[in-house]
Amino acid sequence: MKVLVTGGCGYIGSHTVRALVNSGHDVLVLDNLVNGHRRAIDENVGFVAGDLEDRTLLAELFEAEKFDAVVHFAAFIEVGESVIDPLKFYQNNISNTLNLLQAMQTYGVKKMVFSSTCAVYGTPDTMPLTEELPCNPVSPYARAKYAIEWALEDCNTAWELGYTALRYFNAAGAASDGKIGEDHSPESHLIPIVLQVALGQREQVKIFGTDYDTPDGSCLRDYIHVEDLADAHVKALEVLAPGQKRIYNAGTGTPTSVRELIEVARKVTGHAIPAVEEGRRAGDVPELYANASKIRDDLGWQPRYAKLEDIVASAWKWHQAHPKGYDDRR
Ligand code: UDP
Repeated sequence: MKVLVTGGCGYIGSHTVRALVNSGHDVLVLDNLVNGHRRAIDENVGFVAGDLEDRTLLAELFEAEKFDAVVHFAAFIEVGESVIDPLKFYQNNISNTLNLLQAMQTYGVKKMVFSSTCAVYGTPDTMPLTEELPCNPVSPYARAKYAIEWALEDCNTAWELGYTALRYFNAAGAASDGKIGEDHSPESHLIPIVLQVALGQREQVKIFGTDYDTPDGSCLRDYIHVEDLADAHVKALEVLAPGQKRIYNAGTGTPTSVRELIEVARKVTGHAIPAVEEGRRAGDVPELYANASKIRDDLGWQPRYAKLEDIVASAWKWHQAHPKGYDDRR
């Protein structure tokens, strides 16, 4: 398939680009490089530097390339920033996505795999999360993602857009060959922060909240290896047909606490990784983990990284080889 991948230079996008290419697809990446890294994709992969705000560029690309499908990652991802500057998120994550959908409608492209988030569920009171639970997104980031899920459904009704929304849980780890991995600036995610402590780049990791109603008092999350997540995109794309609508939780179903994760990282790295207990981080939900049976049953998807040790070890391999991420000058 000829596939447009927006945001293909980001963390999940770049791993998915590799997986798509390895499965024989012809990929063109569109990325504005605001947060993405050109070096995260192979030189041989088609690349256009540009923004979804640019409708002229989109028209030119769709006219010239005759895409069969779109995998849409391009979006801002910092939840905290979305609370401070919601319009920035509504502009980029909603309005610019509408430009993309408009181009798809105009040029008759009827397949999209969309990066959604488990944050659309809000603060649910039942766990694990199934796709049928009501959605009640809290942050502007999550609301914008949910708004696009509605837009996809309406486009499905109106012009037979086929779509799969993957509601991501916590993407983690790095490519098994150690060549690409996670590099956010500033970094706010737990695993890279823990590994930065092991590398001596930070003195300690803060455990945000130790008084939650969870077995050890810290938050529970569902960590899914980024290559398994990439594989889910490929599988979702390959079975998708115009007119279909599919929504899947993209998680493993295994809850891991912050304390457990730090302990695993100590084992993997052999570093003491000092941790200090802090108050709760604003906006954090005590527990979030998937019932992942729908994606397994429908797509035949299985995580290959079943053990957290292996997920953390793959991230450790990347961080050791690239202590400054993609940018050696940083
Ligand atoms: N967390 C933490 N210390 C950190 C960063 C994160 O204790 O320095 C916790 C955070 O409160 C959450 C979990 O680790 O419970 C995962 O956070 P992350 O930001 O990686 O992903 P999120 O679940 O917020 O998308």
